[in-house]
Amino acid sequence: MQEGKKNNMANIQYSGVRESRPGRVNDLGTTGKEAAENYKKGCLKRADRSFAQGLQCQQINSMAALMSLEDSVFISHSPQGCVGCAIMAVDMYRVGQIHRGIRNVKNPRLLVTNIDQKSVVFGGETKLRQTVKLAVERYHPKMAFIYASCASGIIGDDIDAIAADLQAEYPDTIMIPIHCEGFKSKICASGFDAAFISINKYILKKQQVEKQKGLINLFAPTTVSYADQKEMERMLKLIGAEVNYIPFYSSLEKIKRIPAAEASTSICKVFADEFMKTLWEDYQIPYSHTVMPIGIRNTDKWYRGIAKVLGKETEVETIIAEEHKRIEPLVAELKKRLEGKRVFICGGTGRSFAAAALIDDFGMELVGLETPTYDENAQTDIEYLNDIHKNYVVDIANMQPFEQVNLLHKLKPDAFIGVPEWAARLGIPTTHVLDGKRPTMGYDGLLFLGNKIADQLENPGFNKKLAKHTRLPYKDTWYQEDAFKYIEKGGK
Ligand code: SF4
Repeated sequence: MQEGKKNNMANIQYSGVRESRPGRVNDLGTTGKEAAENYKKGCLKRADRSFAQGLQCQQINSMAALMSLEDSVFISHSPQGCVGCAIMAVDMYRVGQIHRGIRNVKNPRLLVTNIDQKSVVFGGETKLRQTVKLAVERYHPKMAFIYASCASGIIGDDIDAIAADLQAEYPDTIMIPIHCEGFKSKICASGFDAAFISINKYILKKQQVEKQKGLINLFAPTTVSYADQKEMERMLKLIGAEVNYIPFYSSLEKIKRIPAAEASTSICKVFADEFMKTLWEDYQIPYSHTVMPIGIRNTDKWYRGIAKVLGKETEVETIIAEEHKRIEPLVAELKKRLEGKRVFICGGTGRSFAAAALIDDFGMELVGLETPTYDENAQTDIEYLNDIHKNYVVDIANMQPFEQVNLLHKLKPDAFIGVPEWAARLGIPTTHVLDGKRPTMGYDGLLFLGNKIADQLENPGFNKKLAKHTRLPYKDTWYQEDAFKYIEKGGK
């Protein structure tokens, strides 16, 4: 846990590129034991893949983080294809509105400049100016977010200068350029950082405001369900906090309240963690950065972390004891259904480690873990997991399904927790942990998630039928190969 201590990184302006922090590795195939030992010795080196199937781009994370903000337009200065995967964030936003009781469900106002061959040769600035003007005149937004892309970065279109020009022309709309060119980083969470850097630069502007007693910034990404939001707010209210839930389903007014907070915390481990450091440096807001509150151990740890920053250590212990009394008999019932099952987990850095700790509550055994990044925080989690799970594979991969199916073929887990597309087609019972639509977090989320895993194990029919009728695109020989054969340098 970190609580806003000044360190030697303070006052060095963070670039927004996650690789710029020391000790971050994003291509690695190893075991939990080896990863922990090699990290300790300083032997984990950055590697690369000589073959890769895909890479999640940081631009989409910059967009997804902000897409549910009220009174906003989102302009992607890119070819059309770049906004293709915005569909997931749009879906989350639409479902989120329904869960919040909104009847007239809206789409985000997302426009794309459609950089094409001509723009690459002659420049795309005119297209960008026209698109921003169109967006502002049509929607009269309070905020216009302008997203860079690989193409706009390569041709050198100056989105900052264009935003500054248009700001003078449209003073009622805050122009916010975001530097999220996909090629800048292989770690997609850099996209969150790029969005927050721009929020600080163009909206908050280091202005000091009066602090509000008990106000907490609770940072949440798009993938957090409304049920999880309510659970987190319930828990924080019990320790006397008023929650400023941002930036998901928030507004310019809520963003402007950020500097007034007494403390900050985040639901996800790789969301706003860098921004919370900036808030400490620029606005003296202490923060708690611990784990994602999934499972008993992680929920307790997350809760204690923010309670400590607020000076509520005694109160939180009483609440935790009561919550344990309430849920432990129910967890014991779930354990009867789940104990001894072998599990493979795949998810983002926050969720995958949290899910690995969660399965311990149910007496399940970890056989494989796939996640995009390894760093100091991952090391803390792996050391904890190594005490519980003795022998499991670690695949540090940003979207490499060919490695995942190879590992699943060899490890033959009873259950798969995570992004399920590929495992489901192998007939393995799957549970989606990146579930922005149902509860997963806090004490109540843990029970829901446990029941969901148990139900899948007891009703695997759908995935079994799916496996019978689908064919994966790999030759049998691939399953005999080393899953990590394309990882070069850095150690395997
Ligand atoms: S910004 Fe770059 S990496 Fe991202 S989708 Fe566009 S071309 Fe691909």
